[in-house]
Amino acid sequence: MSGDGGPDSELLEVIVDRVNVGVLVVDERFAVARWNRFMAMHSGIAPLEALGRDLFELFPDLPRRWLTQKLRSVFLLGNYAFTSWEQRPYLFRFPHNRPATAASVDCMRQDCTFIPIRDATDRVTHVCITVTDVTDACIYQMQLLDAMRRLEEMSVRDALTGIFNRGHIEARLRDEVARSRRHGDPLSVILLDVDDFKRVNDRHGHKAGDTVLREVVRRITGNLRQHDVCGRYGGEEFTVVLPGTDLPSARVVAERLRRAVACQAVETSAGPIKLSITLGVAQLDPDTIDHEMLLDRADRALYQGKRAGRDRVMTAADGC
Ligand code: GH3
Ligand code: MG
Ligand code: MG
Repeated sequence: MSGDGGPDSELLEVIVDRVNVGVLVVDERFAVARWNRFMAMHSGIAPLEALGRDLFELFPDLPRRWLTQKLRSVFLLGNYAFTSWEQRPYLFRFPHNRPATAASVDCMRQDCTFIPIRDATDRVTHVCITVTDVTDACIYQMQLLDAMRRLEEMSVRDALTGIFNRGHIEARLRDEVARSRRHGDPLSVILLDVDDFKRVNDRHGHKAGDTVLREVVRRITGNLRQHDVCGRYGGEEFTVVLPGTDLPSARVVAERLRRAVACQAVETSAGPIKLSITLGVAQLDPDTIDHEMLLDRADRALYQGKRAGRDRVMTAADGC
């Protein structure tokens, strides 16, 4: 493994030593035959200390079985091999010097190559392992995935109240309609609207109106089961999807929501505001073609409730 001493060889020595990639070479018994500056710097083991030593003695934490197999196959077949940090985050557990914001990446992420080195008779006598620090790529990818997750979450949420937006709640209802048809489980939906909400805004201001909407949502979601889904249908109108729920049970839920809103004034910066909601309830039946028709039936029940004086629950069976 020693060079021939010529100028090219010296140049190569310098390059291998100075390159910002770990370069180590092992023989067939896994004894270290070369150890460059990168390896020394990150492991704290000087070349003189490493040379001639068994790699697994130097690093008892190495994945022994996996690495032995990998090296043996390179010796035997003479093929290049590669491992990416995405399959195996690192080979050597080296610290990284990235800022604390990258704390989720606990140590240096590494891509490694395994290169067969042949003697004059073409026999593979050594394997060169290169270790590339890809911690930055890993951190960027994690940040990207995190941003994409947050964007995806935001795209289905209503900014004011944090519950699902109309697009998402309709998609969920469409799915639940299909599921209900497949399994024969009941499915109901509630459409509810805050009564005289325009007056709340006119009298107390838009900011107080916003506080009221958030509190209405808090009271509604606080009175639902875990698998019920609530969304903002528009303005001061909300939808609740109730899987596995028939009309009488959905009516009970709707009445509970009505009471939760009406029972106590909402505290706002403009003072306490009393309010009520009107709710329309409908259950999926064989005559209901799709989720839009189901919502339409709940909407008509809601409209009847408004006409009948507000602050009440009307079901699609009540003649709507
Ligand atoms: P009804 O009892 O018939 O439902 O009467 P209403 O006054 O509640 O109904 P209307 O549709 O006339 O008024 C709804 C109001 O809701 C008008 C609109 O400005 C207000 N609104 C819609 N979205 C928001 C919002 O995000 N924040 C606030 N503060 N107001 C909103
Ligand atoms: Mg209203
Ligand atoms: Mg409305």
